[in-house]
Amino acid sequence: MFNVLAQYWGTIRRTFIAGNNAALKQAQLRVMIYQLPMMYGLLVVNTWGMVLPHENEIPAWQGIICPLVLTGFCFVRVLSWLRLARIRVTADDAVTLLRNSGRLAWVFSISFTAWSLSLLPHGGAAFKLHVAFYMAITVIGVIFCLMNVVKAAFTVTAIVNGALVVTFLSSGNGVFQAIAIDTSLVSMAMLVVAFTQFKNFSDLVATQGENKRLANIDSLTNLPNRRAFFASLDKQFDSAVASGGRLAVGLVDLDGFKSVNDIHGHSLGDHVLAEVASRLAQAARSTITLARLGGDEFGVLVTHDCSDAGLSQLGRSICDVFHYPVLVGEISVRLGATIGFSTYPHISRNKADLYETADYALYEGKRRSRGSVTIFSETHRNAIIRESQIAQALRSPDLASELHLAFQPIFSLERQRTVGFEALARWQSALLGTVPPGEFIPAAERNGVINGLTLALFAKALACAKQWPAHIGLSFNLSAHDFASESAVKELARCIVSSGIDPARLDFEMTETAMAKDFDQIQKTAKVLRALGCGLSVDDFGTGYSSLSYLCKLPLTRLKIDRMFVSGLKERTTAFTVVRTLLNLSRQMSLDCVVEGVETAAELQVVAALGATLVQGYYCSRPMEASAVVAFLQRENEHEAMVREAAQ
Ligand code: C2E
Ligand code: CA
Ligand code: CA
Repeated sequence: MFNVLAQYWGTIRRTFIAGNNAALKQAQLRVMIYQLPMMYGLLVVNTWGMVLPHENEIPAWQGIICPLVLTGFCFVRVLSWLRLARIRVTADDAVTLLRNSGRLAWVFSISFTAWSLSLLPHGGAAFKLHVAFYMAITVIGVIFCLMNVVKAAFTVTAIVNGALVVTFLSSGNGVFQAIAIDTSLVSMAMLVVAFTQFKNFSDLVATQGENKRLANIDSLTNLPNRRAFFASLDKQFDSAVASGGRLAVGLVDLDGFKSVNDIHGHSLGDHVLAEVASRLAQAARSTITLARLGGDEFGVLVTHDCSDAGLSQLGRSICDVFHYPVLVGEISVRLGATIGFSTYPHISRNKADLYETADYALYEGKRRSRGSVTIFSETHRNAIIRESQIAQALRSPDLASELHLAFQPIFSLERQRTVGFEALARWQSALLGTVPPGEFIPAAERNGVINGLTLALFAKALACAKQWPAHIGLSFNLSAHDFASESAVKELARCIVSSGIDPARLDFEMTETAMAKDFDQIQKTAKVLRALGCGLSVDDFGTGYSSLSYLCKLPLTRLKIDRMFVSGLKERTTAFTVVRTLLNLSRQMSLDCVVEGVETAAELQVVAALGATLVQGYYCSRPMEASAVVAFLQRENEHEAMVREAAQ
């Protein structure tokens, strides 16, 4: 009982005192737009219905002029409500319109009541009864129409019925007094019904508002969710277009969050996310919309200062929130964030593109340098266009015939001769001309055509190697995707067996990044290749993140030290120490070691002094056409013979 009363009191307060709930006002207005023209229609019809049968009993100014003026007012109001049905009304507009309507309720009630009562001195008892009936029935109709703006319904009832009751009670006529009492009782009952209905209506609006809020909020972080983010993007994009303003979309992805979940479990991961969200919310300026898009990805919408400098600064301040570890109980977690931005209208001209380009910038940032801020630029756009051209050209039915191989010698310092060649892919596309492997290999990987490309190249490499002397090895690069594909490996093995080449001459190169993929499958592939008798190298060693424990779990035969450590190699530099350490490591692990990228005699001298046994690089030879290999080896043999002769 107490609860019910408290609820009613809440509604009374909302209705009469603190009635500034914008959502409720908007909902009320939506209903009024359809009900109020009907109410004015009812007023007009009832008014004329009352005066026309009595036109001879009342003076013209009261019987014609006044109804005409009142009809005119009603007509103007109907027009203005019909106009509202066609335009978008904001919450602020709704508040103002309702306030004005409340005031007009006073004006209309007083005008109609004064006019109606002014008619009473004219005509006989039937006429007076008609006026009373007109006032009472019209008020009931008006209460119905004003059900959802109950404050106005109260105003109208109080004025019209108040005046009617006072006038009729004081008339001394028993019939009129009974009518007055009846009318006021019915009106009161109507008001109670109207009030209950209004309470239900306002509760419904409040529930809808709460549902909407819940549907747009991320319960873990209390930030707007993905749906709210895209709704906001829609709105802010449209307003930027309309006002000629700027807008930036930023996507933030946490670095290192996945391992937090893996190591400490999802419950701790949730705490970390909540803490991260509150830090991000602090870092984001108040003019920025920050939302959680899902998992460990957040989105920002920026409308102020969308310059590159402004966005970089904002991005940095977001990255800076990760300077301090996140503490959950006893556990301290170190995270980072990578951010990609894109801007309207500088870069993107539509919403979908704005989001996608921000996503691309994020992906680029993650690929190049985690913890960085990347702003999408024309260079990225050109890269996307180029990538899609490459993707298309890679689907050419003539791809296999457009591919060929160059071979670069691997030189043994001990034996002073070439011991093998590394096959390097070359592509002369009919559509795009020469495309370097650094471009088309990653593109083939992303487009899922790398396995076919590898097999086509491998068949060509085997065909060439079969022409070479039996002691010359062939090193062949495999993509991480080849290592991860059971069927590709089976096909490679089948090629080796059917070629009849001695598998001991073959060496497969894998990069460290391959190990980050499905390690179990990598291990299986490595075992298959080794079981066939082939060698297995880790390429570009020192540039990836492979842990030594991973290396130990693979049946490797060789490390290839990346050329990054060799270029400009001088004694006592960091690179010098790295090369020496890696050479020692390979010796300790009983692995061969090729030092890549040796370009000068000075570099060769340094690596030789460090104990390198195998080298590769422009100093020995640039990659050469397949047709040049045999002649190259021949020249080497002749040179060797000359040196031997001279020595004798
Ligand atoms: P990589 O496997 O490290 O190949 C060595 C790259 O270094 C080759 O570039 C070679 O031309 C270049 N190089 C060799 N000596 C020197 C030197 O002294 N100085 C300099 N600056 N560069 C030198 P290329 O042919 O452009 O190949 C680039 C990368 O593309 C390769 O790096 C490899 O990762 C990939 N790749 C090439 N062919 C294939 C292939 O058939 N399959 C796969 N999966 N990847 C391939
Ligand atoms: Ca290689
Ligand atoms: Ca390499």
